[in-house]
Amino acid sequence: MNNCIFCKIVEKQIPSELVYEDELVCAFKDINPTAPVHILVVPKQHIESLNEIEDNHKQLIGHVFIVAKLLADKFEIKEKGFRIVVNCGQDGGQTVNHLHFHLLGGRKFSWPAG
Ligand code: C5P
Repeated sequence: MNNCIFCKIVEKQIPSELVYEDELVCAFKDINPTAPVHILVVPKQHIESLNEIEDNHKQLIGHVFIVAKLLADKFEIKEKGFRIVVNCGQDGGQTVNHLHFHLLGGRKFSWPAG
């Protein structure tokens, strides 16, 4: 059995605060937000990380960014700016091994990343 927590959220076996869904992706509020707006955009297909993406995922990955932009507009962070983060692997800080894109906004972010 697939024990992936994000697969379970996608399949609604575990509740989440869903803010968007279509045939390719869903988006829900992060349970431990690090910004006033912190949404995870998650491909429904189980892809472990950015290390596993292939040519046939191009449309899906492009779609993720279109959805993120729509959500940035909906949650009113588009004008002031926002950040999209993908953590990959141990050094990248990935804790859930199902590809996801953090959409962060509502405060000013520093650079370089910590
Ligand atoms: O990029 P990383 O893998 O560290 O991010 C995982 C994110 O998933 C965390 O921000 C965590 O708060 C979030 N999460 C969640 N709901 C869960 C489990 C984790 O929103 N049930």
